[in-house]
Amino acid sequence: MELREVPEPAAGPGNVKIRVMVASICGSDLHIRHGDIGIPMRFPVVPGHEFSGVIAEVGAGVAELKVGERVTAENTRSSCGLCPQCAAGSYNLCRKRLATGYAFDGAFTSYVVVPAVRVHRLPATVDFQSGALTDPSACAYHAVQELTRIDAGAHVLISGPGPMGLFCLQYAKANGGLVILAGTAKDTRRLELGRKLGADHILAGDGLEEKIRALTNGKGVDVVLECSGAEPAAQMGLNLLKHQGQYTQIGIFGKPIRFDLDQVLYREIRLTGSFSQKFIGWEQALALCAQGKIQATPLISHTFPLTDWEHAFDVFERSEAIKVVFKLEHTT
Ligand SMILES: [Zn+2]
Ligand SMILES: [Zn+2]
Repeated sequence: MELREVPEPAAGPGNVKIRVMVASICGSDLHIRHGDIGIPMRFPVVPGHEFSGVIAEVGAGVAELKVGERVTAENTRSSCGLCPQCAAGSYNLCRKRLATGYAFDGAFTSYVVVPAVRVHRLPATVDFQSGALTDPSACAYHAVQELTRIDAGAHVLISGPGPMGLFCLQYAKANGGLVILAGTAKDTRRLELGRKLGADHILAGDGLEEKIRALTNGKGVDVVLECSGAEPAAQMGLNLLKHQGQYTQIGIFGKPIRFDLDQVLYREIRLTGSFSQKFIGWEQALALCAQGKIQATPLISHTFPLTDWEHAFDVFERSEAIKVVFKLEHTT
């Protein structure tokens, strides 16, 4: 990765050009930097898919959106529109899906071009910083609301108190779940924020599995939301699940791991992954943010100019940071 001068893009038919105000580093951007991303890439590319900004130009055929509107946008850039997943509205799972910030130029720059159909307006009470975090919030919405059932009073274990874990925590609490947020000894700051955002218990360090078992009177948890992408956390979550519990994988491991599927069989565990998000998740995430029910800004621990990108990435990789964002300086 390096900083380069690139030509200013033009909107083109069906697209809008957005002047980027805030862009946020995602965990998957770290995987891009390390070269172990599982999402189709086309190089050279401008990364960055979590952003907010102002519409600077609308392309031909775009009637719905106007220059000057405050917006954010989904990262699905293109999908085939014909496969069973697309036909069912799950374009996040299209085999031919290509995404902004991976296969198309993204938002770690001054202007980004996206299809008008992927644009969402920011409600008046949602600032640019919160708007830029709609992507991870919508991911958490997809994982918790669309793919995982959380009954009021259910014990929910969230492993990994990073941005995804902290958004999932807020959705789990909105459903009335009792949330145990678990991390490592390095996660003190993230866990403390988790407590402020409503976690019933925060735990880290040695003997986690025994501590969590004790918290549930030996019964185990009803739901695991695995947000860390760490093998020991996945195994611990599986060990702690009740019979017929729900396990949802949200964190990315970046490599195959050991995971005892016999336990899934013997205990009739329901197992699902969660990937990306869909249109309704974006609208709901923004509406909930506008009402203050899901909070994004407390997650922002660091702000940098784009010229300091290397430092920003390094800070994000260390656990003392939570969400690291770029604030774009516009001279015109
Ligand atoms: Zn992301
Ligand atoms: Zn498709």
